[in-house]
Amino acid sequence: MRFYLATKGECDFVINTIERKSMIRIAIAGFQHETNTFAPGETTLDQFTRQGSWPALTRGKEIFQVFEGLNIPISGFIDSSKAQLHPIVWAMAEPGGYVSDDAFDEISNEIVDGIKRIQPDAAYLDLHGAMVTHQFDDGEAEILRRIKDAMGEDFPVAISLDLHANISSQLFELANVITIYRTYPHVDFFETGARAAQLLEFEMKWGLAKSFRQVDFLIPITAQSTEYEPAKSIYHEILQVKCTSVDLAMGFPPADIPSCGASIVAYDPVLEEADAKADYILQLITGAEAKFDPKLVSAKSAILQASSLAGPVIIADPQDNPGAGGTGDTTGILRALIEAEVTDAVMAVLHDPASAKAAKEAGIDADLALFLGGRERFYSEPMSANVRVIALSDGKFTCTGPVAGGSKADLGTMARLQIKNTGIQVVVGSHRCQNWDQEFFRVVGIEPADHHIICVKSAVHFIADYKSISDKIFFAISPGANLCDLSQIPFSRLRPNLRF
Ligand SMILES: [Zn+2]
Repeated sequence: MRFYLATKGECDFVINTIERKSMIRIAIAGFQHETNTFAPGETTLDQFTRQGSWPALTRGKEIFQVFEGLNIPISGFIDSSKAQLHPIVWAMAEPGGYVSDDAFDEISNEIVDGIKRIQPDAAYLDLHGAMVTHQFDDGEAEILRRIKDAMGEDFPVAISLDLHANISSQLFELANVITIYRTYPHVDFFETGARAAQLLEFEMKWGLAKSFRQVDFLIPITAQSTEYEPAKSIYHEILQVKCTSVDLAMGFPPADIPSCGASIVAYDPVLEEADAKADYILQLITGAEAKFDPKLVSAKSAILQASSLAGPVIIADPQDNPGAGGTGDTTGILRALIEAEVTDAVMAVLHDPASAKAAKEAGIDADLALFLGGRERFYSEPMSANVRVIALSDGKFTCTGPVAGGSKADLGTMARLQIKNTGIQVVVGSHRCQNWDQEFFRVVGIEPADHHIICVKSAVHFIADYKSISDKIFFAISPGANLCDLSQIPFSRLRPNLRF
């Protein structure tokens, strides 16, 4: 016998080492999507197949090689589990509009068919928790329903979820155990997968009672960061809670579904203990309701304040964050920078495959007249600009920051463009991706720390890597699909009495 520490601050579990090495067989898979039901277009199978700033769709034993050592939940599960693991498929797409029925059925069926073929003792799924299709408000619950249909109600399924999960009571009931990221920016993907392995093991050996609470108000995305109060203290408290497991999902607001919002899951051998811990965290978050400040300012004000400070200063464009379903091509902040006549600003990444292609064809040092961004035309028009091509890239690089360090990214053809007669440079790319790593600039030769104003199409994740060069950060309001001012979101299907 030996003691096994589940995670810092939690209980020590006695695990029989010999039993751990018994041939328990666990099927593992991943299917991640954060669906912004207000974003234009569908998320198609093609988007789940290709590489972004995470691995491309991966099948079978190749999962062991591709995910080894990465900061991804399934990597942590593989590392921590002592069971015999049977990988099926892993797929993720950049957050966006409803997942298409084709994509959902194709990948879900592959997971369910794989489990039926393998006939394991249990399954682990690396999920997000905010997947919506036209048929299913809770895509993840439907996947678990299909698995339980195929394998029986008693078949144990562990899942790990994103801190932005919108957990329905159905998903909570179907999942035997759930673990959730405890950081935003998410730097604990790996640990969350590892905790799922430990919790599943506990559940299979001894059984766990579980408790679920939904928070009755929505929390704006930019107010959810664990870098700031009150989330910082609440998650610190979660780490101190002595029980088998308690986790808090902050929810993903731009999702017009009844389960939208924050929730708490707790697991303990004793139901009263699970209930007590869930209630304790519920009380903490409810007591902090008035302190969740989205910190939003107008683009004009952000630029004015940034210009008056010593650089570097970071201006985030949270409403056009591709990592929350933004089109990544809006030009609001770019126009505001030009209007303000700033003398030294860099921006990445404007999703604009056509401009990237034109720049590549024209070559370095070429002068071009382009229409930048605004391709989707949902939130802004293309911006007419005369530019010089400073650098080009195939968009393939390895991330180095705390969120995605070690992951290979592919943003397609990229170009660094100097807007003529201004001090503004903009990086255009061909794949829609959130800028959460300084390598998004470095790939075209820009060292962000060398510039006065750094503009990033990201809501919060950028902080993990960019805080090493500046803590002067503004969250600027500019048109986009990820509405951060909750009063502006045209909800119609939230559950009654949910405050926002
Ligand atoms: Zn998230």
